[in-house]
Amino acid sequence: MEFSYLTRRNELASLDGKRFDVIVVGGGIVGAGISNLLSANGIKVLLVDKRDFASGTSSNSSKLIHGGLRYLGQGHLKLTRDLLRERNYLLRHLDFVKRMDFDILVDDGSWSKSSLYFGLFLYNLLGGRLRFPHFQKNGYSYQGYRGRFTYEDASTDDALLVIHNVVSSVMQGAVAINYLEATTFRDSEDEVETTLTDRFGEGSYRVRTKIIVNAAGPWVNFAYNQYTSKDIQNLKLSKGSHLILKRDKMNLENAVAFRSHLDRRQMFIIPKGEVVLVGTTDRFIESPLSGEMEADEMAYILDSVRKIFPSIDRQDIVGSYSGIRPLYGSGNDPGRVTRDFHIDITGKMITIMGVKITDYRRASRKISKYIGEMLEADLEVRDLPKILYNRGERDPLDSAVTMECALTVEDVLRRRLGYYYTTVDQGRSKIRTIEDRINKIITADQHK
Ligand SMILES: Cc1cc2nc3c(=O)[nH]c(=O)nc-3n(C[C@H](O)[C@H](O)[C@H](O)COP(=O)(O)OP(=O)(O)OC[C@H]3O[C@@H](n4cnc5c(N)ncnc54)[C@H](O)[C@@H]3O)c2cc1C
Repeated sequence: MEFSYLTRRNELASLDGKRFDVIVVGGGIVGAGISNLLSANGIKVLLVDKRDFASGTSSNSSKLIHGGLRYLGQGHLKLTRDLLRERNYLLRHLDFVKRMDFDILVDDGSWSKSSLYFGLFLYNLLGGRLRFPHFQKNGYSYQGYRGRFTYEDASTDDALLVIHNVVSSVMQGAVAINYLEATTFRDSEDEVETTLTDRFGEGSYRVRTKIIVNAAGPWVNFAYNQYTSKDIQNLKLSKGSHLILKRDKMNLENAVAFRSHLDRRQMFIIPKGEVVLVGTTDRFIESPLSGEMEADEMAYILDSVRKIFPSIDRQDIVGSYSGIRPLYGSGNDPGRVTRDFHIDITGKMITIMGVKITDYRRASRKISKYIGEMLEADLEVRDLPKILYNRGERDPLDSAVTMECALTVEDVLRRRLGYYYTTVDQGRSKIRTIEDRINKIITADQHK
């Protein structure tokens, strides 16, 4: 199977005027998961992303597959249990979802020895394990903390999880096109006409569908407003940033979960290849356009991590990244807005907000229930969505360009091969090779 610049060009050539059952707007984890599930059921799906697949929040997360110990602390027992079940499923079935041990640091506040002992015992139990947490007074040189417990969770390459779902959808008959923006929706009695604009080349296309799934992440309100002329009430955008730091000064055995001494917020230090990811911040923003890391966020993360590893300084910063959580809820504290997802159905548009990467399968099954009702189709959801695609022994760069529709160097560095988030040079030494490989496929096309 090929899924590349060439197949994209061919799909675009015949797109105008086509009919599908469902258009999915947004190729993050939500859009990719639902496309995968629907196409497994023989539903005709068009999946579009205005930039690359996974270029929104789904490549800029903490990359954890977890139940959220914090949600347990807030009393969300059911949410934590559901997320842990999903974690366990993904650990069993995907080789790029990996077990990760965390040292959680005991402090003087609500993360005291007894509350963490109880919380971790419950967390393990909800995750299907009867395991008594073991306290160690000293670990390596954690300054100002009283000791640690070690617990088990998981980590992944978030973008790769999206890409595997996109390619699996295509293998089952979906049409998936990146750099194609849904710009307007026009409703008629039984169909919606969506206008799509090519952001990689030129051209504009119209397609007709029975349903629109609005999985536009931080941009959900733009699509919703375009369709309904109203705004989503209670949509909250919360920005979270990470610093990417060199790993060599931190003698890390495990990932670290701790509370910042500055404001008692939970943070993580996550080892990834040659670097560590440290985050995250959590602050409301007005618009998805203000999604860059700010200077005070950088200072906050650096100060927090220096409490544990005092020798870290600005020289150790390799890079940074920010993502935006599209949350649904009320209140002024971003940390307390629910992290469970919310689905809205208005006319032929199904809008979904607040899905954790860990939870994408549960969310996909829930959305498909509504789609089944709207299409009057009996959809099979058991064990779906499933990943069918596997790179196997193929060269990863070759797979990225010919089987995973990477069109730019950035697509490869950030969302196919992950160098941006795992190496000290963030993949700069590979740029030439990647450019050559991409150009080969584009020039081959021009010479046809
Ligand atoms: C800092 C941070 C850390 C996180 N850490 C974790 C974690 O460790 N584990 C976890 O499970 N979850 C985590 N999350 C939550 C999770 O990452 C997000 O909730 C999830 O990625 C949202 O996915 P999405 O598909 O809704 O949105 P996105 O991934 O943002 O996808 C939306 C897509 O829609 C596209 N789009 C928008 N408008 C249009 C249009 N008009 N036409 C076509 N395409 C369009 C965008 O280009 C984008 O690619 C974290 C979130 C943040 C912000």
